[in-house]
Amino acid sequence: MDILIKDAMIITMDEGRDVIDRGYILIKDNLIKQVSYGEYIGENIGEYKNLEVINGKDYCVMPGLINAHTHAAMTMLRGYGEGLPLMRWLKEKIWPMESKFTAKHIKLGTELACLEMLSTGTTCFNDMYFYQEEVMEVAKEFNIRAVLGIPIIGEDWEHQLKEALELHKKTESCKNTMVSSMLAPHSPYTLSKEALKVIGEEGKKIDSGIHIHIAETEDEVNILKEQYNSTSCQVLLESGIFENRVVGAHCVHLTDEDIKIIKNNKVNVVYNPQSNMKLASGIPRIVEMLNEGINVCIGTDGASSNNNLNMMEEMETGALLQKLWCRDPTKLDGKEIIKMATLNGAKALGFDKLGKIKEGYLADLIMINLNKPNLVPNYNVYSNIAFSANGSEVEYVIVDGNIVMRKGEFLNIDKEKIIYDFKALCKNLM
Ligand SMILES: [Zn+2]
Repeated sequence: MDILIKDAMIITMDEGRDVIDRGYILIKDNLIKQVSYGEYIGENIGEYKNLEVINGKDYCVMPGLINAHTHAAMTMLRGYGEGLPLMRWLKEKIWPMESKFTAKHIKLGTELACLEMLSTGTTCFNDMYFYQEEVMEVAKEFNIRAVLGIPIIGEDWEHQLKEALELHKKTESCKNTMVSSMLAPHSPYTLSKEALKVIGEEGKKIDSGIHIHIAETEDEVNILKEQYNSTSCQVLLESGIFENRVVGAHCVHLTDEDIKIIKNNKVNVVYNPQSNMKLASGIPRIVEMLNEGINVCIGTDGASSNNNLNMMEEMETGALLQKLWCRDPTKLDGKEIIKMATLNGAKALGFDKLGKIKEGYLADLIMINLNKPNLVPNYNVYSNIAFSANGSEVEYVIVDGNIVMRKGEFLNIDKEKIIYDFKALCKNLM
């Protein structure tokens, strides 16, 4: 089925076009075929099969949001072990509970995460968690774009790396771009230098990219200082990890030298403001990094340190925090933060035709109802979405040319059943 969205406001994220006040979008198969001002008068109509026409009046269409760092199935631990610093929280609460997880927990936890992400406008997520084969199945079933990553952590790294390489082969054989994978070494402080070196080498062979936590807390900085007298970035540079396309989550505690290393090695930085605030990890120097030309995108981190997977909230918090940190309200305006949550995320995850509403790009887009009390008037659509929207205004979600949500209702997904089963499983877990 092909799709025509007519009479809509369009945030293209395409420099030449910017915002189209009233225009249309034609989608053929999984690609955006045409984007234009004005009204569609039916030229080349024969090219399109069973054209579904969506009336875009009072809607804004924009690229789907990209959650560039999360642990989707941590929805299971939402609100669990609250109020502890990162290391105590992980060691005393999260890791013991995670050791009880089976494939079933991951399947349901990811299903719930996908419900939450899709309904608030996220069409692609970069995951790092256990049982990624389950995540792959859920992503396919839900029609959400997923980048999978098996965490490689601690002593058992060789075995985990082998599993990750096998998963990579499986995603390669899928023959579409809906699921892909990255190697996901947890962090420079939870792996030996030797392990990092091998993972860096294997990453280069398969060209998958590497997803890793970098300099999240002061504790991490101190551990590496004591162990190697180095910073996280120096360790990753020396071990060859940075010879890959790297997606580095957090990057909170960086020296000036670290920022140079990140810039020179074209490391993609993921800003996770709510997690950093909740765990009191610190404030990353996002504005400085953007000024250096570093590609910065946005992630929610897991639901247990956030406590949701809502990228609309993440954009708002992220921009507000940097404005306050810089004591400068001109920093991170609506357009820039939306670019970070769309185009920059696509680039970080290795998609060169994603994150814009432009001919030839993958048809991942969302439609926001502008006729909501919190979105009128609409003087500046970028800041309206970044600072006034909360995600509940997303009413259409299209991923890879397929409609996943229409008028606020999921198609082919039994939301009530998932929530019922999820609650039952959480009750058993505790
Ligand atoms: Zn994380």
